[in-house]
Amino acid sequence: MNKSTIGDIDLKGKRCFVRVDFNVPFNDEQEITDDSRMVGALPTINHLIKDGAKVILASHMGRPKGERNPEYSLKLVLERLKALIGKDVIFVDDCIGEEVNATIASMKEGDVLLLENVRFYKEETANDENFSKQLAESIDVFVNDAFGAAHRAHASTAGIARFVGVSVAGLLMEKEINYFNKAVANPERPLVGILGGAKAEGKIEVLNKLAEKLDKVIISGGLAFTFMKAMGAEVGNSLVSNDLIDKAKEIITKMDKLNVEYFFPVDFVVAKEFKADAATQLVSATAIPSDSMALDIGPESSKLFADALQDAKTIVWNGPMGAFEMEAFSKGTYNLVDAVTKTGALTIIGGGDSGVAVKNAGAVDKISYISTGGGAFLELLEGKTLPGIECLNEK
Ligand code: AMP
Repeated sequence: MNKSTIGDIDLKGKRCFVRVDFNVPFNDEQEITDDSRMVGALPTINHLIKDGAKVILASHMGRPKGERNPEYSLKLVLERLKALIGKDVIFVDDCIGEEVNATIASMKEGDVLLLENVRFYKEETANDENFSKQLAESIDVFVNDAFGAAHRAHASTAGIARFVGVSVAGLLMEKEINYFNKAVANPERPLVGILGGAKAEGKIEVLNKLAEKLDKVIISGGLAFTFMKAMGAEVGNSLVSNDLIDKAKEIITKMDKLNVEYFFPVDFVVAKEFKADAATQLVSATAIPSDSMALDIGPESSKLFADALQDAKTIVWNGPMGAFEMEAFSKGTYNLVDAVTKTGALTIIGGGDSGVAVKNAGAVDKISYISTGGGAFLELLEGKTLPGIECLNEK
């Protein structure tokens, strides 16, 4: 990575504004159900404490739309944070202003302060210049460790960098970028892409770009049907993005020209309704009934995909093979987790649902890296520059 990191600078006594991603999920009892984003930020926080920095943590949580809302208060993660770093954390219920500045002025080296949700101000997502300045008021160093929010040009993810002397990447950010480079910029080949999930809108451009790098690609999940329809297949009521059919045709032509081998499912588990207890049927890809939707891939497809993966040296995967949240439609995704882990390839999973599937399958240890960023990961794959990385100092 050609961006500076916290490892490159002197941190002792420096007031460091650390943008983390503590946007963790909660259950109805307001208990954190998955703290992996917080755990992901620990190496950076611990490094800063050890080096005697004053650690000022800022994050967004949910979408409070510029208003104070206790449901989205960062206070909800305070106790877990204390437990994770094993020391006290000061909390201020704001992210700018007098109280924040006074608290920072009283901090000692190694102290940790957690600020309130930056999105309680609408100026955050508007990347307002004055707000960015206020965030930077008592700060020496901006540390961006929020890879999951790096595709957003917001005040706390990018705007603040204009008003502090030094802007560097945290260790999680560095790890994300290094894995991405290993997998996509300089991959060991064959490089195999796996794209699934529901949102064709987000993924079709990714495939368009990635086609130039890939040796093989597996196109599955809901995404497959836009392509299958583009190739003239009947897909019943399955998920199709009609306005992307022409684009899908273009990508197929491109992949043919570039000699990218592509694989689509050859059989499906179909149902008449999108329901966990709907009656299911296993059909071949050419026999999807007109009144049904395909909600998972079948066993022949799992075998085809496992064979396609066998010689892979690098795998990049985003999106499940089916509506895996419902048991009846989960086998295809879990079969793929199994196939991927058996290859021994360097495997990068692009956050979101495929990451959840790997965790559910207890296979986290067998995967090289699960990215903490869904959208950010996809935008990197698409070849975009991310504002949260772009704004950091070059090495
Ligand atoms: P995404 O956020 O685009 O990765 O989409 C993830 C979602 O895709 C999951 O919630 C799955 O339930 C859904 N999904 C995957 N395959 C299908 C399918 N064949 N039909 C409908 N939804 C699907």
